[in-house]
Amino acid sequence: MSTLSAQSSSMLDFDREHIWHPYSSLLAPQPVFPVASASGVHLHLSDGRTLVDGMSSWWSALHGYNHPDLNRAAHAQIDKMSHVMFGGLTHQPAVDLCRKLVNITPDKLDKVFLADSGSVAVEVAMKMALQYWHAKEKPQKNRLLALRGGYHGDTFGAMSVCDPVNGMHHLFANNLAQNIFAAAPGGNFYTVDTSAIADIRANIIKHHASLAAVILEPIVQGAGGMRFYSPDYLKAVRVLCDQYDLLLIVDEIATGFGRSGKLFACEHAGISPDILCLGKALTGGYMTLAASLCTAEVSDTICQGEAGVFMHGPTFMGNPLACAVACASIDLLLGSPWQKRVSEIEQQLLQELAPLQYSAKVSEVRVLGAIGVVEMKEPVDMANIQQAFVNRGVWIRPFGKLVYVMPPFIIASEELQQLTSAMVDILSAS
Ligand SMILES: *Cc1c(COP(=O)(O)O)cnc(C)c1O
Repeated sequence: MSTLSAQSSSMLDFDREHIWHPYSSLLAPQPVFPVASASGVHLHLSDGRTLVDGMSSWWSALHGYNHPDLNRAAHAQIDKMSHVMFGGLTHQPAVDLCRKLVNITPDKLDKVFLADSGSVAVEVAMKMALQYWHAKEKPQKNRLLALRGGYHGDTFGAMSVCDPVNGMHHLFANNLAQNIFAAAPGGNFYTVDTSAIADIRANIIKHHASLAAVILEPIVQGAGGMRFYSPDYLKAVRVLCDQYDLLLIVDEIATGFGRSGKLFACEHAGISPDILCLGKALTGGYMTLAASLCTAEVSDTICQGEAGVFMHGPTFMGNPLACAVACASIDLLLGSPWQKRVSEIEQQLLQELAPLQYSAKVSEVRVLGAIGVVEMKEPVDMANIQQAFVNRGVWIRPFGKLVYVMPPFIIASEELQQLTSAMVDILSAS
Protein backbone atom coordinates (compact mmCIF):
# COMPACT_ATOMS: atom_id res chain seq x y z
CA MET A 1 0.00 0.00 0.00
CA SER A 2 1.39 3.41 -0.91
CA THR A 3 1.63 6.04 1.82
CA LEU A 4 -1.09 8.09 0.17
CA SER A 5 -3.60 5.27 0.06
CA ALA A 6 -2.66 4.19 3.61
CA GLN A 7 -3.35 7.73 4.81
CA SER A 8 -6.54 7.77 2.84
CA SER A 9 -7.75 4.47 4.24
CA SER A 10 -7.08 5.46 7.86
CA MET A 11 -8.92 8.71 7.19
CA LEU A 12 -11.85 6.77 5.79
CA ASP A 13 -11.81 4.40 8.78
CA PHE A 14 -12.09 7.33 11.16
CA ASP A 15 -14.77 8.95 9.01
CA ARG A 16 -16.86 5.78 8.98
CA GLU A 17 -16.59 5.29 12.76
CA HIS A 18 -17.10 8.84 13.99
CA ILE A 19 -18.55 11.30 11.50
CA TRP A 20 -22.15 11.90 10.50
CA HIS A 21 -22.69 12.82 6.87
CA PRO A 22 -25.98 14.39 5.69
CA TYR A 23 -28.89 12.00 6.25
CA SER A 24 -26.55 9.11 7.01
CA SER A 25 -26.42 6.01 9.17
CA LEU A 26 -23.41 5.38 11.37
CA LEU A 27 -24.31 1.69 11.49
CA ALA A 28 -24.44 1.19 7.74
CA PRO A 29 -22.56 4.14 6.30
CA GLN A 30 -22.56 4.56 2.52
CA PRO A 31 -19.11 4.96 0.97
CA VAL A 32 -17.73 8.51 0.80
CA PHE A 33 -15.07 9.75 -1.62
CA PRO A 34 -12.17 11.83 -0.26
CA VAL A 35 -11.66 15.10 -2.18
CA ALA A 36 -8.22 16.69 -2.12
CA SER A 37 -9.05 19.87 -3.99
CA ALA A 38 -11.43 21.37 -6.50
CA SER A 39 -11.00 23.84 -9.34
CA GLY A 40 -13.31 25.13 -12.04
CA VAL A 41 -15.89 22.47 -12.73
CA HIS A 42 -13.71 19.65 -11.35
CA LEU A 43 -13.42 17.79 -8.07
CA HIS A 44 -9.99 16.21 -7.61
CA LEU A 45 -10.20 13.03 -5.55
CA SER A 46 -7.36 12.01 -3.22
CA ASP A 47 -6.72 8.92 -5.33
CA GLY A 48 -5.84 11.10 -8.32
CA ARG A 49 -9.12 10.80 -10.20
CA THR A 50 -10.91 13.92 -11.43
CA LEU A 51 -14.69 14.24 -11.58
CA VAL A 52 -16.85 16.71 -13.51
CA ASP A 53 -19.15 18.29 -10.92
CA GLY A 54 -22.85 18.06 -11.71
CA MET A 55 -24.11 19.25 -8.33
CA SER A 56 -22.53 22.68 -7.69
CA SER A 57 -22.22 21.39 -4.11
CA TRP A 58 -26.00 21.53 -3.69
CA TRP A 59 -26.94 24.58 -5.78
CA SER A 60 -24.15 26.76 -4.41
CA ALA A 61 -20.93 26.75 -6.50
CA LEU A 62 -22.23 28.80 -9.45
CA HIS A 63 -18.81 29.88 -10.67
CA GLY A 64 -17.09 26.56 -10.08
CA TYR A 65 -14.41 26.01 -7.46
CA ASN A 66 -11.28 27.92 -6.56
CA HIS A 67 -12.26 30.99 -8.56
CA PRO A 68 -9.51 33.64 -8.60
CA ASP A 69 -11.93 36.55 -7.99
CA LEU A 70 -13.54 34.90 -4.99
CA ASN A 71 -10.17 33.74 -3.63
CA ARG A 72 -8.89 37.31 -3.94
CA ALA A 73 -11.91 38.70 -2.08
CA ALA A 74 -11.45 36.14 0.72
CA HIS A 75 -7.73 36.81 1.05
CA ALA A 76 -8.19 40.57 1.06
CA GLN A 77 -10.84 40.36 3.75
CA ILE A 78 -9.07 37.82 5.95
CA ASP A 79 -6.05 40.15 6.12
CA LYS A 80 -8.34 42.85 7.57
CA MET A 81 -10.63 40.80 9.81
CA SER A 82 -12.40 37.47 9.51
CA HIS A 83 -15.10 38.28 11.95
CA VAL A 84 -16.37 40.83 14.41
CA MET A 85 -19.65 40.76 16.27
CA PHE A 86 -22.56 42.54 14.56
CA GLY A 87 -24.13 43.80 17.77
CA GLY A 88 -23.19 47.48 17.99
CA LEU A 89 -20.66 47.20 15.14
CA THR A 90 -20.95 47.31 11.38
CA HIS A 91 -18.55 47.03 8.45
CA GLN A 92 -18.12 47.67 4.74
CA PRO A 93 -18.60 44.06 3.53
CA ALA A 94 -22.03 43.78 5.20
CA VAL A 95 -23.13 47.22 4.00
CA ASP A 96 -21.92 46.52 0.45
CA LEU A 97 -23.66 43.16 0.38
CA CYS A 98 -26.97 44.44 1.75
CA ARG A 99 -26.93 47.33 -0.73
CA LYS A 100 -26.47 44.86 -3.59
CA LEU A 101 -29.23 42.58 -2.26
CA VAL A 102 -31.70 45.45 -1.89
CA ASN A 103 -30.86 46.54 -5.45
CA ILE A 104 -31.13 43.20 -7.23
CA THR A 105 -34.04 41.52 -5.43
CA PRO A 106 -37.71 42.11 -6.37
CA ASP A 107 -39.47 45.36 -5.45
CA LYS A 108 -39.83 46.68 -1.93
CA LEU A 109 -37.54 44.15 -0.26
CA ASP A 110 -35.54 46.93 1.38
CA LYS A 111 -34.62 45.52 4.79
CA VAL A 112 -32.06 42.76 5.28
CA PHE A 113 -31.38 40.32 8.09
CA LEU A 114 -28.12 38.38 7.58
CA ALA A 115 -28.31 34.82 8.86
CA ASP A 116 -25.81 31.99 8.97
CA SER A 117 -27.50 29.26 6.93
CA GLY A 118 -30.56 28.66 4.82
CA SER A 119 -32.51 26.96 7.57
CA VAL A 120 -31.81 29.87 9.91
CA ALA A 121 -32.98 32.32 7.23
CA VAL A 122 -36.25 30.36 7.11
CA GLU A 123 -36.55 30.46 10.92
CA VAL A 124 -35.95 34.21 10.76
CA ALA A 125 -38.59 34.66 8.04
CA MET A 126 -41.13 32.70 10.10
CA LYS A 127 -40.34 34.73 13.22
CA MET A 128 -40.75 37.94 11.22
CA ALA A 129 -44.22 36.81 10.14
CA LEU A 130 -45.21 35.86 13.70
CA GLN A 131 -43.88 39.09 15.22
CA TYR A 132 -45.65 41.06 12.48
CA TRP A 133 -49.08 39.73 13.42
CA HIS A 134 -48.32 39.97 17.12
CA ALA A 135 -47.51 43.65 16.61
CA LYS A 136 -50.79 44.06 14.73
CA GLU A 137 -52.55 42.64 17.80
CA LYS A 138 -53.61 39.53 15.94
CA PRO A 139 -51.46 36.96 17.74
CA GLN A 140 -53.96 34.26 16.77
CA LYS A 141 -52.52 34.54 13.24
CA ASN A 142 -49.64 32.25 14.14
CA ARG A 143 -49.66 29.34 11.75
CA LEU A 144 -48.01 28.88 8.37
CA LEU A 145 -49.55 27.54 5.19
CA ALA A 146 -46.98 25.47 3.28
CA LEU A 147 -47.11 23.25 0.21
CA ARG A 148 -46.84 19.49 -0.02
CA GLY A 149 -43.61 18.54 -1.76
CA GLY A 150 -41.85 21.56 -0.23
CA TYR A 151 -38.46 21.69 1.46
CA HIS A 152 -37.29 24.56 3.67
CA GLY A 153 -34.48 23.18 5.82
CA ASP A 154 -33.79 20.93 8.78
CA THR A 155 -34.24 23.04 11.91
CA PHE A 156 -37.53 22.75 13.82
CA GLY A 157 -39.34 25.75 12.40
CA ALA A 158 -38.18 24.92 8.89
CA MET A 159 -39.06 21.24 9.34
CA SER A 160 -42.58 22.19 10.36
CA VAL A 161 -43.18 23.60 6.86
CA CYS A 162 -41.43 20.79 4.94
CA ASP A 163 -43.56 18.12 3.28
CA PRO A 164 -45.03 16.17 6.21
CA VAL A 165 -44.31 12.77 4.61
CA ASN A 166 -40.80 13.41 3.20
CA GLY A 167 -39.98 15.33 6.37
CA MET A 168 -41.16 12.44 8.58
CA HIS A 169 -43.26 14.76 10.74
CA HIS A 170 -44.56 11.83 12.79
CA LEU A 171 -41.04 11.32 14.22
CA PHE A 172 -41.16 14.80 15.74
CA ALA A 173 -44.90 15.05 16.14
CA ASN A 174 -44.88 16.44 19.68
CA ASN A 175 -42.22 19.03 18.96
CA LEU A 176 -43.32 20.43 15.63
CA ALA A 177 -45.60 23.41 15.15
CA GLN A 178 -48.85 22.22 13.58
CA ASN A 179 -48.99 24.05 10.28
CA ILE A 180 -51.39 23.73 7.36
CA PHE A 181 -50.53 22.07 4.05
CA ALA A 182 -52.02 22.75 0.65
CA ALA A 183 -51.67 20.35 -2.29
CA ALA A 184 -48.41 20.42 -4.23
CA PRO A 185 -48.60 22.95 -7.09
CA GLY A 186 -48.73 20.16 -9.70
CA GLY A 187 -48.67 20.77 -13.45
CA ASN A 188 -45.35 21.90 -14.83
CA PHE A 189 -43.63 25.13 -15.82
CA TYR A 190 -45.80 25.50 -18.92
CA THR A 191 -49.12 24.17 -17.65
CA VAL A 192 -50.87 25.36 -14.54
CA ASP A 193 -52.81 22.87 -12.41
CA THR A 194 -55.99 24.79 -11.61
CA SER A 195 -57.05 22.18 -9.05
CA ALA A 196 -53.93 23.06 -7.01
CA ILE A 197 -54.94 26.72 -7.05
CA ALA A 198 -58.44 25.71 -5.97
CA ASP A 199 -56.92 23.68 -3.13
CA ILE A 200 -54.75 26.48 -1.76
CA ARG A 201 -57.66 28.93 -2.14
CA ALA A 202 -59.92 26.60 -0.14
CA ASN A 203 -57.26 26.23 2.57
CA ILE A 204 -56.76 29.97 2.78
CA ILE A 205 -60.50 30.65 2.95
CA LYS A 206 -60.85 28.08 5.72
CA HIS A 207 -57.81 28.98 7.81
CA HIS A 208 -56.84 32.59 7.09
CA ALA A 209 -57.91 33.85 10.51
CA SER A 210 -55.21 31.66 12.09
CA LEU A 211 -52.60 32.07 9.32
CA ALA A 212 -49.63 34.42 9.49
CA ALA A 213 -48.17 33.62 6.10
CA VAL A 214 -47.87 31.34 3.13
CA ILE A 215 -44.36 29.95 2.63
CA LEU A 216 -43.25 28.36 -0.63
CA GLU A 217 -40.35 27.75 -2.98
CA PRO A 218 -41.02 29.72 -6.18
CA ILE A 219 -41.35 27.73 -9.46
CA VAL A 220 -38.93 24.97 -8.38
CA GLN A 221 -39.67 22.63 -5.49
CA GLY A 222 -36.14 21.40 -4.74
CA ALA A 223 -35.17 18.75 -2.21
CA GLY A 224 -38.84 17.81 -1.69
CA GLY A 225 -39.11 16.36 -5.21
CA MET A 226 -37.32 18.45 -7.84
CA ARG A 227 -40.53 19.61 -9.52
CA PHE A 228 -41.26 22.73 -11.55
CA TYR A 229 -44.57 24.56 -11.60
CA SER A 230 -46.28 27.33 -13.49
CA PRO A 231 -45.71 31.04 -12.79
CA ASP A 232 -49.52 31.36 -12.95
CA TYR A 233 -49.77 29.37 -9.72
CA LEU A 234 -47.34 31.74 -8.00
CA LYS A 235 -49.26 34.78 -9.30
CA ALA A 236 -52.49 33.29 -7.97
CA VAL A 237 -50.97 32.73 -4.52
CA ARG A 238 -49.75 36.35 -4.40
CA VAL A 239 -53.28 37.54 -5.17
CA LEU A 240 -54.80 35.23 -2.53
CA CYS A 241 -52.32 36.47 0.11
CA ASP A 242 -53.31 40.07 -0.61
CA GLN A 243 -57.00 39.23 -0.63
CA TYR A 244 -56.95 37.36 2.69
CA ASP A 245 -54.35 39.44 4.48
CA LEU A 246 -51.50 36.94 4.65
CA LEU A 247 -47.81 37.58 4.25
CA LEU A 248 -46.04 35.73 1.46
CA ILE A 249 -42.66 34.22 2.31
CA VAL A 250 -40.72 33.10 -0.75
CA ASP A 251 -37.82 30.73 -0.16
CA GLU A 252 -35.31 31.34 -2.97
CA ILE A 253 -32.49 29.59 -1.14
CA ALA A 254 -32.14 27.07 -3.99
CA THR A 255 -33.47 29.12 -6.92
CA GLY A 256 -31.77 32.46 -6.23
CA PHE A 257 -28.94 33.79 -8.40
CA GLY A 258 -29.95 32.60 -11.84
CA ARG A 259 -30.46 28.86 -11.49
CA SER A 260 -33.99 28.81 -12.97
CA GLY A 261 -33.14 31.17 -15.84
CA LYS A 262 -34.18 34.36 -14.01
CA LEU A 263 -32.00 36.01 -11.38
CA PHE A 264 -34.78 35.18 -8.89
CA ALA A 265 -37.48 32.64 -9.71
CA CYS A 266 -40.18 35.12 -8.55
CA GLU A 267 -39.42 37.08 -11.69
CA HIS A 268 -41.00 34.34 -13.82
CA ALA A 269 -44.31 35.41 -12.25
CA GLY A 270 -43.48 39.10 -11.89
CA ILE A 271 -44.39 39.00 -8.21
CA SER A 272 -42.68 40.29 -5.11
CA PRO A 273 -43.00 38.59 -1.72
CA ASP A 274 -43.24 40.28 1.69
CA ILE A 275 -40.29 38.23 2.93
CA LEU A 276 -37.57 36.57 0.84
CA CYS A 277 -35.01 33.96 1.93
CA LEU A 278 -31.63 33.62 0.21
CA GLY A 279 -28.74 31.26 0.87
CA LYS A 280 -26.83 28.51 -0.94
CA ALA A 281 -25.35 30.36 -3.99
CA LEU A 282 -25.11 33.65 -2.06
CA THR A 283 -21.35 33.22 -1.52
CA GLY A 284 -20.81 31.29 -4.75
CA GLY A 285 -20.47 28.16 -2.62
CA TYR A 286 -17.50 29.41 -0.59
CA MET A 287 -19.00 29.48 2.89
CA THR A 288 -22.22 29.53 4.77
CA LEU A 289 -24.26 32.73 4.66
CA ALA A 290 -27.94 33.47 4.16
CA ALA A 291 -30.28 36.44 4.24
CA SER A 292 -33.93 37.17 4.93
CA LEU A 293 -35.18 40.34 3.28
CA CYS A 294 -38.49 42.01 4.05
CA THR A 295 -40.52 45.08 3.14
CA ALA A 296 -40.53 48.27 5.20
CA GLU A 297 -44.17 47.48 6.00
CA VAL A 298 -43.07 44.28 7.72
CA SER A 299 -40.05 45.76 9.51
CA ASP A 300 -41.88 48.94 10.63
CA THR A 301 -44.73 46.89 12.03
CA ILE A 302 -42.40 44.52 13.90
CA CYS A 303 -40.44 47.39 15.40
CA GLN A 304 -43.62 49.18 16.55
CA GLY A 305 -44.72 46.01 18.37
CA GLU A 306 -44.40 44.93 21.98
CA ALA A 307 -40.76 43.78 21.76
CA GLY A 308 -39.80 46.93 19.82
CA VAL A 309 -37.04 44.93 18.15
CA PHE A 310 -36.71 41.87 15.97
CA MET A 311 -35.87 39.01 18.33
CA HIS A 312 -32.94 37.29 16.63
CA GLY A 313 -29.17 37.76 16.53
CA PRO A 314 -26.77 34.93 15.70
CA THR A 315 -23.15 35.03 16.92
CA PHE A 316 -21.73 35.00 13.41
CA MET A 317 -24.31 37.42 11.99
CA GLY A 318 -22.97 39.43 9.06
CA ASN A 319 -19.66 37.54 9.05
CA PRO A 320 -17.33 39.92 7.12
CA LEU A 321 -15.44 37.15 5.35
CA ALA A 322 -18.64 35.58 4.01
CA CYS A 323 -20.07 39.01 3.09
CA ALA A 324 -16.91 39.97 1.18
CA VAL A 325 -17.00 36.74 -0.83
CA ALA A 326 -20.75 37.16 -1.43
CA CYS A 327 -20.14 40.65 -2.85
CA ALA A 328 -17.47 39.29 -5.18
CA SER A 329 -19.73 36.40 -6.22
CA ILE A 330 -22.65 38.71 -7.07
CA ASP A 331 -20.36 41.05 -9.04
CA LEU A 332 -18.90 38.10 -10.91
CA LEU A 333 -22.37 36.74 -11.72
CA LEU A 334 -23.84 40.06 -12.86
CA GLY A 335 -20.73 40.81 -14.91
CA SER A 336 -20.96 37.44 -16.69
CA PRO A 337 -23.23 36.35 -19.55
CA TRP A 338 -25.11 34.14 -17.07
CA GLN A 339 -28.49 34.23 -18.89
CA LYS A 340 -26.83 32.97 -22.05
CA ARG A 341 -24.93 30.29 -20.13
CA VAL A 342 -28.01 29.08 -18.27
CA SER A 343 -30.07 29.02 -21.44
CA GLU A 344 -27.35 27.07 -23.29
CA ILE A 345 -27.18 24.57 -20.42
CA GLU A 346 -30.99 24.28 -20.55
CA GLN A 347 -30.99 23.60 -24.31
CA GLN A 348 -28.23 21.01 -24.03
CA LEU A 349 -29.86 19.24 -21.08
CA LEU A 350 -33.18 19.10 -22.96
CA GLN A 351 -31.53 17.65 -26.02
CA GLU A 352 -29.18 15.18 -24.37
CA LEU A 353 -31.49 13.88 -21.62
CA ALA A 354 -34.43 13.47 -24.03
CA PRO A 355 -33.57 9.85 -24.98
CA LEU A 356 -34.18 8.84 -21.37
CA GLN A 357 -37.88 9.66 -21.75
CA TYR A 358 -38.19 6.41 -23.69
CA SER A 359 -36.41 4.26 -21.10
CA ALA A 360 -38.71 1.77 -19.40
CA LYS A 361 -37.24 2.65 -16.01
CA VAL A 362 -37.75 6.38 -16.30
CA SER A 363 -40.90 8.08 -15.17
CA GLU A 364 -40.17 11.63 -16.38
CA VAL A 365 -37.39 13.88 -17.65
CA ARG A 366 -37.70 17.59 -16.85
CA VAL A 367 -35.45 20.57 -17.40
CA LEU A 368 -35.65 24.20 -16.31
CA GLY A 369 -32.76 26.65 -16.51
CA ALA A 370 -29.58 24.94 -15.37
CA ILE A 371 -31.48 22.10 -13.68
CA GLY A 372 -31.93 18.70 -15.31
CA VAL A 373 -33.99 16.03 -13.54
CA VAL A 374 -34.58 12.39 -14.37
CA GLU A 375 -37.26 10.86 -12.18
CA MET A 376 -37.02 7.06 -12.13
CA LYS A 377 -39.95 4.73 -11.49
CA GLU A 378 -38.11 3.08 -8.57
CA PRO A 379 -35.60 4.46 -6.04
CA VAL A 380 -32.02 4.00 -7.27
CA ASP A 381 -29.50 1.79 -5.47
CA MET A 382 -27.37 4.58 -4.05
CA ALA A 383 -24.11 2.74 -3.39
CA ASN A 384 -24.05 1.16 -6.86
CA ILE A 385 -25.11 4.17 -8.84
CA GLN A 386 -22.76 6.49 -6.97
CA GLN A 387 -19.83 4.20 -7.77
CA ALA A 388 -20.95 3.92 -11.39
CA PHE A 389 -21.02 7.70 -11.80
CA VAL A 390 -17.59 8.07 -10.18
CA ASN A 391 -16.22 5.38 -12.49
CA ARG A 392 -17.51 7.47 -15.40
CA GLY A 393 -15.67 10.52 -14.06
CA VAL A 394 -18.72 12.52 -12.98
CA TRP A 395 -20.11 13.69 -9.64
CA ILE A 396 -23.88 13.22 -9.61
CA ARG A 397 -25.61 12.49 -6.33
CA PRO A 398 -29.13 11.09 -6.67
CA PHE A 399 -31.71 10.79 -3.91
CA GLY A 400 -34.61 8.35 -3.92
CA LYS A 401 -36.04 8.20 -7.43
CA LEU A 402 -34.37 11.44 -8.48
CA VAL A 403 -31.19 11.65 -10.53
CA TYR A 404 -30.47 15.25 -11.32
CA VAL A 405 -27.78 17.74 -12.28
CA MET A 406 -27.40 21.45 -11.63
CA PRO A 407 -23.85 22.17 -12.75
CA PRO A 408 -21.80 25.32 -12.22
CA PHE A 409 -22.79 27.90 -14.86
CA ILE A 410 -19.22 27.91 -16.23
CA ILE A 411 -19.44 24.29 -17.37
CA ALA A 412 -18.24 23.77 -20.97
CA SER A 413 -20.43 21.96 -23.45
CA GLU A 414 -18.12 18.89 -23.59
CA GLU A 415 -18.12 18.66 -19.80
CA LEU A 416 -21.89 18.89 -19.65
CA GLN A 417 -22.00 16.15 -22.24
CA GLN A 418 -19.90 13.97 -19.94
CA LEU A 419 -22.61 14.40 -17.30
CA THR A 420 -25.55 13.71 -19.60
CA SER A 421 -23.96 10.75 -21.38
CA ALA A 422 -23.13 9.14 -18.03
CA MET A 423 -26.77 9.65 -16.98
CA VAL A 424 -28.14 8.23 -20.23
CA ASP A 425 -25.85 5.19 -20.19
CA ILE A 426 -26.17 4.35 -16.51
CA LEU A 427 -29.89 5.02 -16.16
CA SER A 428 -30.91 3.11 -19.26
CA ALA A 429 -28.65 0.11 -18.53
CA SER A 430 -30.51 -2.91 -17.19
C1 LIG B 1 -31.14 24.01 1.14
C2 LIG B 1 -32.41 24.70 1.37
C3 LIG B 1 -32.74 25.22 2.63
C4 LIG B 1 -31.87 25.03 3.86
O1 LIG B 1 -30.63 25.64 3.73
P1 LIG B 1 -29.41 25.13 4.66
O2 LIG B 1 -28.30 26.08 4.32
O3 LIG B 1 -29.14 23.71 4.24
O4 LIG B 1 -29.85 25.23 6.06
C5 LIG B 1 -33.94 25.90 2.76
N1 LIG B 1 -34.76 26.07 1.71
C6 LIG B 1 -34.48 25.59 0.48
C7 LIG B 1 -35.43 25.83 -0.64
C8 LIG B 1 -33.30 24.88 0.28
O5 LIG B 1 -33.04 24.37 -0.94
